[in-house]
Amino acid sequence: MSALTPRSLVLSGARIVTMDRKRRVVEGDVVVEDGEIKSVGGEPAPSAARGRRTGADKVVDCAGLVIIPGLIQAHIHLCQTLFRGFADDLPLETWLAKRIWPLEAAHTEESVYWSAMLGAAELLLGGTTAILDMETVRHTGAAFEALEAIGLRATAGKCLMDAPSAPKGLKEPTERALQEATDLCAKWHGAAHGRLRWCYAPRFVPSCTGPLLRAVSDLAERAGATIHTHAAETPVELQMVSEETGHDEISYLDSVGISGPRAALAHCVWVDAEGIRRLARQQTNVVHCPSSNLKLGSGIAAIPEMIAAGCKVAIGADGAPCNNRLDAFEEMRLAALIQKPRLGPDALPAARVLELATLGGARALGLDAEIGSIEPGKKADLVVLDLSGPHVVPEEADVVSRLVYGARASDVRHVIVDGRIVVRDGELKTGKVSEIRAEANRHSRLLRKKAGLT
Ligand SMILES: [Zn+2]
Repeated sequence: MSALTPRSLVLSGARIVTMDRKRRVVEGDVVVEDGEIKSVGGEPAPSAARGRRTGADKVVDCAGLVIIPGLIQAHIHLCQTLFRGFADDLPLETWLAKRIWPLEAAHTEESVYWSAMLGAAELLLGGTTAILDMETVRHTGAAFEALEAIGLRATAGKCLMDAPSAPKGLKEPTERALQEATDLCAKWHGAAHGRLRWCYAPRFVPSCTGPLLRAVSDLAERAGATIHTHAAETPVELQMVSEETGHDEISYLDSVGISGPRAALAHCVWVDAEGIRRLARQQTNVVHCPSSNLKLGSGIAAIPEMIAAGCKVAIGADGAPCNNRLDAFEEMRLAALIQKPRLGPDALPAARVLELATLGGARALGLDAEIGSIEPGKKADLVVLDLSGPHVVPEEADVVSRLVYGARASDVRHVIVDGRIVVRDGELKTGKVSEIRAEANRHSRLLRKKAGLT
């Protein structure tokens, strides 16, 4: 036990946005024991009542503050954080071929580590407590080491690319790619007391062979792991998949077993009505990345239509070079706003958007029984916000509206992951930001040089 990892912790006197089944907002304490939520708002769970309030190892006064479930981003590339600002204002295909792939191919173990530290520091300081991450082809173990140290909850996977058309510096033979993925799964799936999990992460259909995708489906099933990929991001990609396979992308992915609750498909911008019905029927997770889709000019995903059809939807910032922030508050606000010119101001209201960033993300990570809401029995992944800044006043306004339309990452005061205080008073406690900044700058310079971008 340490001051930042107390066995029992009370966050006292806050306004708590629970995201429970009734979407209750209550006043009171959140009591945490051994990393698990024991009671919320002074209403202990039947099995957890005895003697909790007195004698807690640590009490954090949260009077006047708002507690929300830790935000969850279900599509992130930590390995790209060092490329932030190096690939602006380009269409996806050029963005990938001329910048991202050469930079990913240049990565070393050390640069992957510091890229993950930089991204994770930004995420934690901005109230994101869990992510679904796609790393690059090599050195994924270094990203897990960073995640283990910094305390973010993450499901991460090595990127898989084996198709003849995959980029030279990253393409791997199918068997070798799958063998390394399976070895990493054995090492990291369930590590850090379950905080770290493995996902199989084929990059996207055009860079993966059918046999690889089918094998991924089987391996993920066997390991109880998530499958994390991109789908239907641009019309060019759709065309490539249709020429290659004779299918539209969503039905092709389904035919190779990349569908259902185990799968999370980032983007899904170009999906027709039949595709939406298929995604809903299979309960495949769609990960909406509004900033990335806008910045790369990919389009606007039909999220309200998907939700109406029964699709499961989460949100994510994608990688730093196509955003350029990893800010869940920005993604929530944009997710709500970008639908309104098309469908009217009542499209995707604030309450629905907050669901995407909490419960939807938990489902995409396959962790809906453990995170996504503040309820007894769930993991203590909590964000404490100070909503007293002029941009979120008056306080009489609906708290969910203030969170989605007004709040910023800089309003985050404390962050708890798995019962551990990782951000206290706006300061990262699990890494030195000055060191992360210096190493990130150093390694990004080296990567640019190695990739021939200077
Ligand atoms: Zn992506």
